[in-house]
Amino acid sequence: MKLDPVLTQELPNFVTHLECSMTGQRYEAGRVQGLSEAGKPLLVRYDLEALAKAVSKEVLATRTTGFWRYREFLPVREAAHVVSLGEVVTPLIPLAHLSDGQVIVKDEGRLPTGSFKARGLALAVAMAKELGLAHLAMPTNGNAGAAMAAYASQAGLRTTIFCPDDTPEINVSEIELQGAAVYKVNGLINDCGKIVGAGKESPGWFDVSTLKEPYRIEGKKTMGLELAEQFGWELPDVIFYPTGGGTGLIGMWKAFDELEAIGWIGSKRPRMVAVQATGCAPIVKAYEAGEEHAPLWENAHTVAAGIRVPIAVGDFLILRAVRASKGFAIAVPDEAILAALREVASKEGLLLCPEGAATYAAYKAALADGRVKSDETAVLFNCATGLKYPLPAVDRHIDKDRLPDLATL
Ligand SMILES: *Cc1c(COP(=O)(O)O)cnc(C)c1O
Repeated sequence: MKLDPVLTQELPNFVTHLECSMTGQRYEAGRVQGLSEAGKPLLVRYDLEALAKAVSKEVLATRTTGFWRYREFLPVREAAHVVSLGEVVTPLIPLAHLSDGQVIVKDEGRLPTGSFKARGLALAVAMAKELGLAHLAMPTNGNAGAAMAAYASQAGLRTTIFCPDDTPEINVSEIELQGAAVYKVNGLINDCGKIVGAGKESPGWFDVSTLKEPYRIEGKKTMGLELAEQFGWELPDVIFYPTGGGTGLIGMWKAFDELEAIGWIGSKRPRMVAVQATGCAPIVKAYEAGEEHAPLWENAHTVAAGIRVPIAVGDFLILRAVRASKGFAIAVPDEAILAALREVASKEGLLLCPEGAATYAAYKAALADGRVKSDETAVLFNCATGLKYPLPAVDRHIDKDRLPDLATL
């Protein structure tokens, strides 16, 4: 069997440098980098003029692979460093019963390891391999750890992973099975992050926390590229994104800027909506208060583990994208999340993850308060398969020897 050539061919690379997202200070690409000196995320910059000459929409259309189809927009230089577990272009599924088809779910649960964390971690792992790193560590609420373990094992890299005590059991098990050393911690993801930080000097692992290295965001950027391509290079009106660390929202926003710079899309942008849970809504609070940064949210709790992120190093980048797009940030309670999950599963046959269900709950709330109109095209991100989460028990039971009247079933 032949692999897609985009995985195995040497393609031209257009990275020019890295840039501090706060101060604009330049950093050299091609060497190991974490946060900038200002303690802020680094963004990868490209020679977009040269990139535009090297690839076209038509060439892209001939490629079959998932997010690696955008190789020219990505930082990996050598084909030998690409890691792949069979990525797909994730489908757009219109909610045909709950809307007239203008509400569309982008189902990221179809990616390897069952979540969109595959995008960011495939890139982070490939770049770790390219830069000669041997041991990676991260804090996780589950899905990121699973994706890192999987891709790192494929790349032959060692991984150490820390997750909160109440991380869904299935996540902890898949991380372990996929080759990582995983530890449960009596704290939240930011507490786990501190442990990762403490081991940077000794034992000397590399910190792959959200936005603390430059490449996960490049992987998440492919959601924006993919969405634009799927929509025929016209973007939808509104995007509802379940926001934890915000990598995906920031990444998509970066993708749209790069696509406009090379003339593939116009200046129209979707309104970016950051969706959080009322039990952990630092970005919503900062948005409503008109602040640039979002301080630590105390006693964070929600059933949607992926968005239980009490403090985000990229807070200002999320808030800037939300505001620049004329979008908003909105919080929904756990009851609304669980009701939305049930409604979409039973009416549409689509089993969302709680974070994905939060976007539908937020859509309904925004429709009711007029922040979205019923004729607007809205994309909801379902970031993981619903099958990775604890599901409600069913206790209806029948005794085969004393069948009830079947007409009552
Ligand atoms: C990580 C995660 C999120 C949040 O993604 P960010 O880009 O870090 O904000 C949302 N949903 C699920 C299922 C996740 O695993």
